[in-house]
Parts: sequence; C-alpha cells; structure tokens
Amino acid sequence: MNKDISAPQRTKEIIAKHNFSFKKSLGQNFLIDQNILNNIVSAADLSPDSGVIEIGPGIGSLTERLAKKAKNVVAFEIDQRLIPILEETLEPYENAKVINQDVLEADIHAVIEENFSDGQDIMVVANLPYYVTTPIILKLLNDNLPIRGIVIMIQKEVADRIAAKPSTKEYGSLSIAIQFFAEAETVMTVPHTVFIPKPNVDSAVIKITKRTEPLAIVKDEEFMFEVVRASFAQRRKTIINNLKSFFGKDEKDKVEQALNASGIDPKRRGETLSIEEFAKLSDELHHLLK
Ligand code: SAM
Repeated sequence: MNKDISAPQRTKEIIAKHNFSFKKSLGQNFLIDQNILNNIVSAADLSPDSGVIEIGPGIGSLTERLAKKAKNVVAFEIDQRLIPILEETLEPYENAKVINQDVLEADIHAVIEENFSDGQDIMVVANLPYYVTTPIILKLLNDNLPIRGIVIMIQKEVADRIAAKPSTKEYGSLSIAIQFFAEAETVMTVPHTVFIPKPNVDSAVIKITKRTEPLAIVKDEEFMFEVVRASFAQRRKTIINNLKSFFGKDEKDKVEQALNASGIDPKRRGETLSIEEFAKLSDELHHLLK
C-alpha cells in the first residue's frame, strides 16, 4: 500500500525516481503537510457528487485528496515533464483527469461541458503559482462560469489584498474586482516551511464564493472598474484629484457633480469608498461623461 503522495518521504521518492528538477519560474513548490492539505479540501465543502477543477497538480498531492472526496477532478498542468509522473501517481484514481495546458489559455467553458454534468456542483481548487494568481482568479470570475467558488493557496500578501475591507492599506482595485463578484475570506495562513522546496514568502488559503448576484447593478461594469483604478491611481490624493487627472481638468465640474449626486465628499480618498459607493459614483459619471 503506497503512502499518500504528499507524505514527505513519498514526495522525495517520486522526485528522485523521475529525476525531477523544480522550475522556479513555474512556482513549483509542492505541499508536504497533511493538515494543510486536509484544510484546503474541507474548505472546498465537497460532496460525493461535486466536480473539481484543479490548477497546477504538481505531482498530484492535492489531486489525490480531491479525487477521494469528489465525483471527478480535472486538473490543468502546464509542465509537460509532470504528465508521466501524474499518470503514475494518479493511476489508482480513475475519476482524476489531467490536461497538459496553461490554464490561462484554456477554454474552461468547453472543459466544463465535456467533463461535468448539467447543474453539477463545481469548485476550483488550487495551490497557485504566485505569478499567475491574479489573472487566473479574474479569468475564473469574469468568464461567468458555472462554478460555486474557488479555494486557493496564494501568497499571503495577495490574499490580504483580495479579502481587504475599505479604509485599510490592503484595500484596492484587486479587492473590489473580486468582491464585486464574490465573497472572500481567509481560511488560514501557511508558513513557508510546509513546501518542498521552501518558497521565500508565507502563503494563505483563501475561499472565494461567487455571489448569486453582483453586489450592485451598474450600467457599465468595465467603466466602473476604470473608475476604481483611477481612484486608486495615487492613494494619497483625494478622489476628486485622482478623477480629475483621469477624466481631464475640463471635466472638473462634472466630476464634482457626480460625487455630490452620489453623496461622496470630494475630499475623501478612494480607499474609504465601499463597493456600493463606487457603483453609484460610476453610474453618475457614466450619465454625465459617456
Ligand atoms: N498542487 C501541487 C501541490 O500543492 O503540491 C503543486 C503546486 S505548485 C505551487 C504549482 C503548480 O502549478 C506546478 O505544478 C506548476 O507547474 C503549475 N503551473 C504553473 N503555472 C501554471 C499554469 N499557467 N497553468 C497550469 N499549471 C500551472
């Protein structure tokens, strides 16, 4: 009987047997802590009918546990060298399938249609490489996919920014881009010692649950996110000054009018505005300037 793939000794054996060398550029740090793996899986709240999309299975440590809990798992792995290793380690799990592709280039709608049944509960679970965290989460949330949510291990600093509330130094356009579509909560922080090899930074597991409706209905979502980014362009500036720089000095009166109509003091800073306030402001600006 084989030990779990994530058992430190088995992980080392697999790596040695296949003469695998870690690629830092792909964020290859493999988890060897059983408790943390269990916590990630339990945060996903899977039932025997659930489907899972995993991103970056590595040698299959997390995949194995997901396959034991869910109906089926489809995992995207970019590194071709890991494919024969995964074929071997995941051989006992007929409900786990690996796709050798960069998830950012994948047609996830088509993969869902092909691998999961209509109305099946689907979660995304991943221990993500840091360099692709933000584009992957935004792709998963913006593409209107039929997923319940995402449980991911990411760099702690990014997790803090995603889950941040207004008037904190972590709150910014990333917090808003994600919290507009989803609720975000930090499940736990993870020391860098539980990986092989050890990364330089600590990590956190975060759970992102999609809202059934966006937090606010706005006329033009893309325009709202432009207004948000403009409002944070220089954090020390007031919102009126940031918006004046973005829309141009000639539009000063209209910007002021939109702020007044939204009940927002022009001297406030962007970081103090709630998402609902940004939504209102964006609609007023849209009405006056578009
Ligand atoms: N899930 C394993 C674990 O927890 O031990 C490995 C996690 S490791 C941090 C990240 C994995 O993602 C690596 O196997 C890496 O090759 C893969 N990866 C990196 N970029 C990717 C991308 N754009 N698409 C799919 N997989 C990617």
